[in-house]
Amino acid sequence: MAERHEQKRKVVEKIKLVLVGNMDVGKTSLAVRFARSAFDENHGSTIGASFLAKAVEMSDKTIIFHIWDTAGQERFHSLIPMYLRDARAAIVLYDITDENSFKNVKNIWMPKLQKDGPENLQVAIVGSKLDLTHLRQVDKQRAEHFAQKYRCLFTETSAKTGANVEKLFYDIADSLSDTATRSHGVLRSSTIHLDDSDNEDHQVKERKKCCAEF
Ligand code: GDP
Ligand code: MG
Repeated sequence: MAERHEQKRKVVEKIKLVLVGNMDVGKTSLAVRFARSAFDENHGSTIGASFLAKAVEMSDKTIIFHIWDTAGQERFHSLIPMYLRDARAAIVLYDITDENSFKNVKNIWMPKLQKDGPENLQVAIVGSKLDLTHLRQVDKQRAEHFAQKYRCLFTETSAKTGANVEKLFYDIADSLSDTATRSHGVLRSSTIHLDDSDNEDHQVKERKKCCAEF
């Protein structure tokens, strides 16, 4: 009886999350792995966007992720601002076996989020296809350093094996629970400089060491 009463009082919170990134990096596969615990090699390209929902139980509340899985092709880019409206989180996905997909995190996807996303959007930069490490082109440390610089969460996942997929969503939910008290991981347009024009010496040195091409 008491337990039922306790369950009734658990708050249910909705988090709208948008998945962006180049075509074929594995956005649909990541969403399907998380929402349905499945991996299907032959689901075909996403047209426009598709929607999946999944509830996760936190200690104090139930969070329902509303996941908008967008299409990576150029012809669908104009739709992205619509999906970003009222979003609280975004995953920018790149493929660890495809350097170009990582370059576009900086050149295309982060600027898009900054321009069209809500000010306090929680962003996670995520490398996909972690099961293909023998084909890796994007160094993990370099990507992690990049994410830190942009105050984003970071991880590498595999939709095929499920590695780090649940943890990613729990970490996003966690970070949104206390956004009022911390700035880490929250995209604030006032503190993010996509032109790299920060002039602190140690940051410049760090960049030369780890991320020369940025
Ligand atoms: P999207 O265009 O970003 O939605 O990418 P898809 O989810 O359609 O995936 C593109 C291709 O990459 C498909 O052939 C998937 O089977 C494959 N893929 C996606 N995630 C993984 C993964 O974690 N590991 C491996 N090995 N292949 C993956
Ligand atoms: Mg897709």
